[in-house]
Amino acid sequence: HRVLLTGANGFVGSHILSQLLSAKHSVRAVVRSQSKVDAVRADFPSFSNLDFAIVPDMTTSGAFDKALESTPPFDTVIHTASPFLYRAISSNHEFLDPAIMGTTEILKGVQSVASGSVKRVIITSSFAAVGAFGQVPDANKVYTSADWNPTTLDQALTTEDLGIGYRASKKFAEKAAWDFIETEKPNFDLVVLNPPMIYGPLRHSVPKIEDLNESTMRIWNLFLKPENTPKTEMPPNGLHLYVDVRDIAKAHLLAMTTPSAGNTRFLVTAGTVTSQQIADILRSELPETLSRTPKGVPGSNGLPETAFTADASPAEKVLGMRWTPMKETFAELGKQLLEIEKAQ
Ligand code: NDP
Repeated sequence: HRVLLTGANGFVGSHILSQLLSAKHSVRAVVRSQSKVDAVRADFPSFSNLDFAIVPDMTTSGAFDKALESTPPFDTVIHTASPFLYRAISSNHEFLDPAIMGTTEILKGVQSVASGSVKRVIITSSFAAVGAFGQVPDANKVYTSADWNPTTLDQALTTEDLGIGYRASKKFAEKAAWDFIETEKPNFDLVVLNPPMIYGPLRHSVPKIEDLNESTMRIWNLFLKPENTPKTEMPPNGLHLYVDVRDIAKAHLLAMTTPSAGNTRFLVTAGTVTSQQIADILRSELPETLSRTPKGVPGSNGLPETAFTADASPAEKVLGMRWTPMKETFAELGKQLLEIEKAQ
């Protein structure tokens, strides 16, 4: 396949890029600046099946038109670019506008300059677009792809709570994509992937801990930063559903190559993980963590019996998803974070 991949320099995007290139697909990576082109090139030095486009602002009209022109033409577009780094955000507009307008721009772009060749657009949405996050009771609920986060756009625009803003950005970006398909009836179909928290080793170079992406930074802060001690109270990990970054990257490739996946929304999760389980893995696999990772009650799980879950069986059945063991996800990530700390 000839693939256009947005957000190619990110935590998730760089794993997708790696798997696409290894599978011999030809990829145009879209990033925001020349320095990001240089960074991706440095992480993937030996691939001739990689070229680049720079789109500095995906909220402008026709933002992706030039990037979408290609010989040979694109078969598939994978759109992962969307703001998630809370520390870079000062108002919910900064979450909402690029998420929503970036999504509509890529779809409009495909329709206007690549509609003869692109058969499928794959969008990285999130469980953030699905879960209720306390807005309505969800004890014992098994979320499915029929569920939507109940937040309204008005709520997101009138609160300073960035969590609500991020989650609304994912919901309304995804809604805009499905609306586009319904109203425009384009020549391509859509696959949307809804992962919860994504964890696991980094494929892109991160020189300093302060440069970590949002989900990885949360693992660092809760379990690995030197200020923590074994006595630190076991912190809640926010959302207890997760998926390994290599698995969600694989889901994007499977979404590309599975014809029957068209016009489907997939919850992509390996299931639940609690802070206690993450701490237990880090403490048993990495001796350096014994002095800084909260201890809690090793072997317990800490998840209330009424905790909600999500049904990933369609992703297993239709896409053929299988899940990386939890121990590999967190042990490999933890080891890598300690190496970054040492080298910085
Ligand atoms: P990163 O922050 O590592 O990557 C985000 C990517 O989006 C980067 O390429 C970034 O480019 C780009 N981006 C961010 N803001 C903008 C903007 N305003 N305009 C254009 N591009 C932008 O995060 P992840 O890799 O984790 O996120 C990738 C996708 O996965 C996102 O859609 C996110 O919502 C989704 N996701 C992530 C989860 C996780 O736990 N990590 C969970 C569920 C979904 P730049 O480097 O230039 O800022």
